[in-house]
Amino acid sequence: MTRVVVGLLAFAALVARPGATQTPMAKTQAPGFFRFQLGDFEITALNDGVVPYPTKTVLPTATAEQISSGLFAAGLSDPVGMSYNGFLINTGTKLILIDVGTGGKLADNPGFRGAGRLLANLRAAGYRPEQVDEIYISHFGPDHIGGLTQPTGVTFPNARLRVSANELAAFLGDGSISGPDSSYRRFLIGLFDPYRRAGRFAPFDQDTVLVSGIRSLATPGHTPGHTSFLVESRGATLLVLGDVIHLGAIQFPEPSLVTVFDRDQREGAAQRARIFKLAADRDHWVAGAHLSFPGIGHIRADRVGFRWAAVDYPIPR
Ligand SMILES: [Zn+2]
Repeated sequence: MTRVVVGLLAFAALVARPGATQTPMAKTQAPGFFRFQLGDFEITALNDGVVPYPTKTVLPTATAEQISSGLFAAGLSDPVGMSYNGFLINTGTKLILIDVGTGGKLADNPGFRGAGRLLANLRAAGYRPEQVDEIYISHFGPDHIGGLTQPTGVTFPNARLRVSANELAAFLGDGSISGPDSSYRRFLIGLFDPYRRAGRFAPFDQDTVLVSGIRSLATPGHTPGHTSFLVESRGATLLVLGDVIHLGAIQFPEPSLVTVFDRDQREGAAQRARIFKLAADRDHWVAGAHLSFPGIGHIRADRVGFRWAAVDYPIPR
C-alpha cells in the first residue's frame, strides 16, 4: 500500500468518527436505588457503596476450584465487588429503614472510599432522613450501623432505633464480644446514645412483630444477636437477610462455606443452610445486605446447593 493510500484511509477514519475520542468517559454510576413493590408495601433498596474483596480472604476454607468455578458461573473475577445495601420499606403508614450503611465512617480504609452513599441515595430515591419513622438493625457490624450519626448529630432525627436485645447484651452487656473498654464499645455507645437520650431507643426480643407486616427472625452466627426480618404484605413475602450471606456466587452453591466475618462459623453456616431452604421452599423474595445491588431476588434449590435468581427490572406501574 502506498504512503498516499494509507494517509487517505487515516483521514477517512477521522472524518467518519468526528470527535470520537474527545468526550470524556463519565465513570460514575447512576444513583444507587431500586424500587420494588411487595403487596401494598414499597421497598427501596439503597446502595451505600461497593467494596472490593479478594474471594479467598472472605472464604478462607473455599478451594481454588470452588472459587474459580463459582466466579466463572457468575461471570465474575477476583477481587469481587461486594455491595453494601440497606432497605427502605414504606408500609403506607410507616417508613422503615433496615440497616443504615457505613455513614462514611470506614473511609480511612482505601477499599471503602466508595462507601457512605446510602443517605445520598435515600434522597435521590425521593425520601428525606427526617421522614424515617423506625430503624431496624440486623446486627452491629460497622457497615450496618455507621450511618446512624453524622458529625452534626443524629442522621434520622425522628426515627425510633430498634436493635436486638441479644446483640445488645453480647456487645455492650457482658462485653463478651467488644470487651468492656474496647474502642468498638465506645463506637457503639456513640452511635446509640443520641437515640437513647431522646427516648427513641427500643431493643426488641427475637421473633416478635415489630410493626404490622414485619417480624424479627433470629439468625445468630454472623453475630450472637444477628437478626433477619420477614416482611409480608397481601401474601407477598420478603426475607431481609442481613449478613447471613456475603458472596452469592460461591455461597449459594456451597452454603457450608464459612466467611471470615462470622463470629461463630459453624452456627453461621447452619443458619445459611436453614434460611436458604426456608426461602426456597416458601418462595420468599430475599434481600441481602451484601448481594450484588439491589440484592433482591429468589433463592432456588439446585440439584446440589442453591442458586440466585436476581429480580428483573420492573415494568413501570
Ligand atoms: Zn455487613
